[in-house]
Amino acid sequence: MTVAVYPGSFDPVTNGHLDIIERSAKLFDKVIVGVLNNSSKNPIFSFDERVEMLTEVTAHIGNVEISSFEGLLVDYVESNNIDVIVKGLRAISDFEIEFQMALMNRKLSSEVETMFLMTSQEYSYLSSSLVKEVFRHGGEICEFVPNLVLNRMKEKYMEVL
Ligand code: ADP
Repeated sequence: MTVAVYPGSFDPVTNGHLDIIERSAKLFDKVIVGVLNNSSKNPIFSFDERVEMLTEVTAHIGNVEISSFEGLLVDYVESNNIDVIVKGLRAISDFEIEFQMALMNRKLSSEVETMFLMTSQEYSYLSSSLVKEVFRHGGEICEFVPNLVLNRMKEKYMEVL
């Protein structure tokens, strides 16, 4: 059984993330979405909110599980018998940082493999931070996030304003 982890902040989950999750679920027996529980990143959605949204929008995929990690990803990978780290690649800027990260992770744990899935073209420009920025300035984001996330964004910004 091959188990993959797809790590990230998911603040919030976008259609780009969902595309990577759905495609990974076809390749691996089990995909664990590892939500980074890291307060220093100052997310707009709490850890629980991010996990809840991910759980709902992936409910239709049988072999996906939502989990969390803190600290080093390789420690999480080793202690949970995970075979592969999955990352999405959008642009050259992603490549540079992911290249560095993959090599560092392999140095820290020689058994760890990282696999990259190229973004689908229609999501290649999407990031959680850009979606939040567009929304904050009143732009339309319904094409970029699942409906549930759109509704949570509306609620969140009503709270904040
Ligand atoms: P973001 O970069 O959107 O703030 P995360 O830190 O949560 O998101 O990213 C988690 C993973 O998802 C990373 O591997 C990132 O490269 C990937 N990813 C994010 N958005 C996309 C997208 N639109 N297409 C493909 N991969 C993506």
